[in-house]
Amino acid sequence: MAAAGSESQQAALVLDFDSTLSTPTWLSRAQQWAVADNLPLFESMDEAEIIANLGGAARLATLHTLLGALEASGVVLHIVSIGRKAAIVPHLRAARLLPYFGERDCEELRSLGFVKGRLIKRIMHARGWAHAEVLFVDDSQEHLDAAAEARKCSGRLASARQSAQHCGEVGVPHDDGHE
Ligand SMILES: [Mg+2]
Repeated sequence: MAAAGSESQQAALVLDFDSTLSTPTWLSRAQQWAVADNLPLFESMDEAEIIANLGGAARLATLHTLLGALEASGVVLHIVSIGRKAAIVPHLRAARLLPYFGERDCEELRSLGFVKGRLIKRIMHARGWAHAEVLFVDDSQEHLDAAAEARKCSGRLASARQSAQHCGEVGVPHDDGHE
């Protein structure tokens, strides 16, 4: 997913979880949105609810195709989320998505003021990645703007909608107000 016209290979794809990797659903039994900062709710969800929260079986199959292709091409996949790691990991495991993600940094983000760009910069420095080698995808313009303003990940910032188009078949999250 290198920039158009560039011969450099993308080293990493950093994905938000809620409304980027997931498509938060309203659980009527709990009268709550299924977002990853709600650990008790996530822990109570069965496999069918988890699959639904990831957009359903068809979207999940597309995610497997996309993430598998990226992994095969050498792209390292990260999730950077303000959600709880303890909530996200079991969901990824249930959906068989967990093996794609070698590092999970959800909790560390809390110590960095929830500014995702700071954590991305820390990961980039540790791995020796340049800005142009990292693509950050998030449905929140606020998070994208914060990362860009801090010059944390300047290579290919894009809105979730633009990124979905760029990546091909990844569904655009519902506009439900969750990030
Ligand atoms: Mg989000």
